[in-house]
Amino acid sequence: MRKSLLAAAGVLSTAALVLAGCSSDSGGSDGPPTVVASTNVWGSVAAAVAGDKAQVTALYNNADGDPHEFEPSAADTATIADADILVFNGGHYDSYMEEAAANSDATAVDAFALLGGDEHAAEAEGEEHGSDGDHAGGDHSDGAHDHAHGDQNEHVFYDLPVVAQVADKVADALAEQDPGNAETYRANAEKFTTGIDGLRAKLTTIRQQHAGTEVAQTEPLAGYMLTEAGLVDIAPAGFTQAVEEGQSPAAADRAALQDILADRRAKVLIYNTQAVDPVTQAMLDVAGSAGVPVVKFTETLPDDVTDYVAWQNGQIDALTAALASGTR
Ligand SMILES: [Zn+2]
Repeated sequence: MRKSLLAAAGVLSTAALVLAGCSSDSGGSDGPPTVVASTNVWGSVAAAVAGDKAQVTALYNNADGDPHEFEPSAADTATIADADILVFNGGHYDSYMEEAAANSDATAVDAFALLGGDEHAAEAEGEEHGSDGDHAGGDHSDGAHDHAHGDQNEHVFYDLPVVAQVADKVADALAEQDPGNAETYRANAEKFTTGIDGLRAKLTTIRQQHAGTEVAQTEPLAGYMLTEAGLVDIAPAGFTQAVEEGQSPAAADRAALQDILADRRAKVLIYNTQAVDPVTQAMLDVAGSAGVPVVKFTETLPDDVTDYVAWQNGQIDALTAALASGTR
């Protein structure tokens, strides 16, 4: 809308708009591609691929809050409407983006929809994954989702193969929008994927040293990563699901997790710093008293981190150190 006002003014050229750094109106064909991501985690994946050739905006950037609870403002909705490419988690984690994608011409990159893709061949159920990066907007109805992935953990930003696939899809989408920089986007995605491979190598090392080790999480945040590392989350599902849903865990689940920690059956407590209530805080105290090492994991990027691989690298290193101290 602002674009048409400026066009009506008839003075400002497209180049002037870009040089002026107009942050919300470079969409369409008259500027660098615009990418809007739901959280800064998905924004960091998109930014790694975009480099300095496209503009990436993340809507949720609060390192202290809970992105599950996020509702976009009117300004956010306008930003989404102007985007060329939407990058989001899917699986109802950020359903406002799923809805926006369904009602928009923007190319959608839906991470959750990639579960069951190349790296998860065992779970493949015949979904068609086109190579053009824009399949997710149209051919995944909510009903199909629920059928295919209804019970699956929505925190797919801890599923490293899916994250690498998202980078590739973003590169496809950017290359389509901006063919002149296609090689740059693909090279950036390749570099990012090399970083992901490095993270996965660290998980392989954990698996080699600690396969089958029991740990506990306060929320099912890092489920995919723990599975790849060969670790077993023994926190009661009722506890972690309640925390994920922003509810207080039931007394029985709370007592069960308390015992798991007090008896040191869990060798490490993985504590989501962005899904906190008095019950999770009590578990932190129980772990502390029992001498169970605690690793603090986050749902979005910490304030001092902008790079996805650096973020996960720090978390995996912390997990590795905790496992070493907890299983002595
Ligand atoms: Zn969560």
